[in-house]
Amino acid sequence: MHLSNKILIGLALGVIVGLIVGPEGLGFAKKWIAPVGTLFINMIKMIIVPLVLASLIVGACSLGDVRKLGRIGGKTISFYLITTAVAVTIGIVMALIMAPGEGLKLPANATYKGKEAPPIMDVLINMVPTNVVQAMQNADMLQIIVFALFIGIGITLVGPKAKPVEAFFDGLAEVTYKIVGIIMELAPYGVFALILPVVAANGPKVLIPLAKVIGAVYIGCILHLAITYTAALKILADMSPAKFFKGILPAQMIAFSTCSSAATLPVTMKNTQENLGVSKEVSSFVLPLGATINMDGTAIYQGASALFVAQVYGIDLSISQMLIIVLTGTLASIGAAGVPGAGLIMLTLTLQSVGLPLEGIALIAGIDRILDMARTTLNITGDAVCSVFIQHSENKREQSSSVSA
Ligand code: ASP
Repeated sequence: MHLSNKILIGLALGVIVGLIVGPEGLGFAKKWIAPVGTLFINMIKMIIVPLVLASLIVGACSLGDVRKLGRIGGKTISFYLITTAVAVTIGIVMALIMAPGEGLKLPANATYKGKEAPPIMDVLINMVPTNVVQAMQNADMLQIIVFALFIGIGITLVGPKAKPVEAFFDGLAEVTYKIVGIIMELAPYGVFALILPVVAANGPKVLIPLAKVIGAVYIGCILHLAITYTAALKILADMSPAKFFKGILPAQMIAFSTCSSAATLPVTMKNTQENLGVSKEVSSFVLPLGATINMDGTAIYQGASALFVAQVYGIDLSISQMLIIVLTGTLASIGAAGVPGAGLIMLTLTLQSVGLPLEGIALIAGIDRILDMARTTLNITGDAVCSVFIQHSENKREQSSSVSA
């Protein structure tokens, strides 16, 4: 049987068994089943740093010429920014249509201590690591990307003498791809074990009062897939959406069950390379960057949640306030790390920007995991769409330059 079918079965079984055992069986599930999921995530995390470092160094060597790097970087970042801003807007529109917060009674004890979101300038400054070992120890993706790009450019500039270094990282990258393949064999069990306790804990009782918020975020994510990504695939990448979604499905299921773009990254890279024809050079640059800064699902969630909080507290937002939400929601999603629950922390930023009460976060915190599953799935899908777009436009460029030569 094909691996992605097995993963799908693991996911479905996890949901069904989770519903059957319910909150009563949660203790058992946490003790005996959840560790299998943790083990699976640990294995993927184990490989992320060597994978990204080695493959990006090799990628940067072949991107060698700095102009090409700048061109791909510019296109990638523009794509990420535009789709993210569209996503926040979809989130806002969904919340306006569905009005999830209207008529909701506030629980009296709703208090939430918002963590401080990092200032945007700090994010920029911290992109350059002062200690590369520490960057790898913290699995700080942006810092690793910057370091790997420098090494790759360095290797290219040095020339023949640096060939052994390039060969070493090339070999290391191949080894890490193989290891990802081995880990993926365990994915069906990992996904089952990850999803089961979540479903057991979030029975219908927890979800029903907030069903409309969940609906707004999920429908928003589906619309973004069906409209924005499908259009981008057809117009910018000349790829059939059916082929794309089939190819990226395994990564989507890993994202859905781990709620972490970073943990899904090795699988996203494998899927885009093996199923969607994206070169290692492009995927190793576009995807780690995307897993860190491009989060359309998180953006939809920022927009929808901000409007939800405003509705619960009976606050009317003006059009210009909504525009501020689009701006800060975009920044918040860029600043969110690719780990579970990061979007919730960044929501403080979005709420603060238009003076909405931070206590509103307490309402969402209880169902955040359920929302996180959808937004993480969309987050990694957006990265993959960008990678096929960049690949297509680079292919076209190469073709036209070989024709004119
Ligand atoms: N969990 C999301 C991710 O890893 C981030 C978020 O919490 O919105 O992509």
